[in-house]
Amino acid sequence: MRMIRNGGFKDKKILLIDKEPKTKNDRTWCFWEKENGFFEEVVYRKWDTVSFLSNEFSSAMNIAPYRYKMIRGIDFYNYCFEEIRKHDFIEVVYGTINNWHYEKEGVVFVIDNKEYLLGDAQVFNSVYQPAESNKKTIRLLQHFKGWLIETKKPSFNPGEATMMDFRVHQHQGTTFAYVLPFSTTLAMVEYTLFTKELLPQEQYDKELQNYISAFLGIEEYTVKEEEFGIIPMTNEKFSFAGHGWQIGTAGGQTKASSGFTFHFIQKQSQQIVDYLLAGKSLNNLPVTPKRFRFYDNTLLHILYHNQLPGDKIFSQLFKKNKPQQVLRFLDNESSLRDELKIISSLPTWPFLKAALKQL
Ligand SMILES: Cc1cc2nc3c(=O)[nH]c(=O)nc-3n(C[C@H](O)[C@H](O)[C@H](O)COP(=O)(O)OP(=O)(O)OC[C@H]3O[C@@H](n4cnc5c(N)ncnc54)[C@H](O)[C@@H]3O)c2cc1C
Repeated sequence: MRMIRNGGFKDKKILLIDKEPKTKNDRTWCFWEKENGFFEEVVYRKWDTVSFLSNEFSSAMNIAPYRYKMIRGIDFYNYCFEEIRKHDFIEVVYGTINNWHYEKEGVVFVIDNKEYLLGDAQVFNSVYQPAESNKKTIRLLQHFKGWLIETKKPSFNPGEATMMDFRVHQHQGTTFAYVLPFSTTLAMVEYTLFTKELLPQEQYDKELQNYISAFLGIEEYTVKEEEFGIIPMTNEKFSFAGHGWQIGTAGGQTKASSGFTFHFIQKQSQQIVDYLLAGKSLNNLPVTPKRFRFYDNTLLHILYHNQLPGDKIFSQLFKKNKPQQVLRFLDNESSLRDELKIISSLPTWPFLKAALKQL
């Protein structure tokens, strides 16, 4: 989309390969942004106020100048493909990529077990394949189930999204719910865990039912849609340069300690386009400063080894810092000064021990 919009790639050919057309509303993206973003037209809802809830600390926070935004997967896909179809320098092919390699004549792709010679091309890969584990590999899963529910009586405040509600039980590990209200009677309610294993499907349903009745106080509702997702949270080393250029989750754009990815992908996509247009080598594309990987891996270590409960850590984070500072930190855009303040707001000893392990 950025290559189309900017107009500088019309003399190139772009081939987009995906295993299937994007016809389902298979994900809901949330992120925060100060200004209007590149995909503003498909932002479905945005909120100036978000709440954080836990047994230790609860607050409704005005996050200005940020706004918490939400995009529905299907709106995003329809919007992008409508635009893509207008440009014949982009071709879309559906099929499963079995593998691909370079030969003297160019790039060879094996799609649905058939070989295609594509000639001289730059390859951008967003197919994530976990690297082999070693003793130090940490893999947690962020897994969640969401229901779009409609109630008969007004039950939600559409002016305020619940970003994290940690009041739910923490028996399995770090667990929270969140609520994205679209109107007084319609909201997306999600139940999320950061753990090593998935739950049986019926347990997500049970926990959602329980959250809706015990915490939202809603007894009568209908489930209009549902969503299920898994996001990897790992200290695996990712690099942009590899077998082709690795982008998206496959290229390490998922923040290991939070699972947020969308905004990082947007930032990186813009950088890629800028570099290509300026004729700069993609080998020099800016990478995430190492200290952020270090913070993420430290937190991941603590959660993985249950050294501190996640609800306590996030409660301290939001209790002792301004929400804007926390959001900047989660965006990897904080200053060292901000970071020292944030780090000092967390329990020193477990973090120090986990940090030493990372070093
Ligand atoms: C349900 C869900 C909700 C999420 N919500 C948020 C959120 O609120 N905020 C946030 O920041 N992040 C969120 N994420 C994380 C992240 O933003 C998304 O996963 C995002 O879509 C990642 O983009 P990507 O391009 O890396 O991968 P994908 O969007 O998964 O794209 C990879 C593409 O590769 C295709 N593919 C895979 N294997 C092959 C193959 N062998 N051959 C051909 N094609 C193949 C797939 O069909 C897919 O289209 C969510 C993820 C999920 C799953």
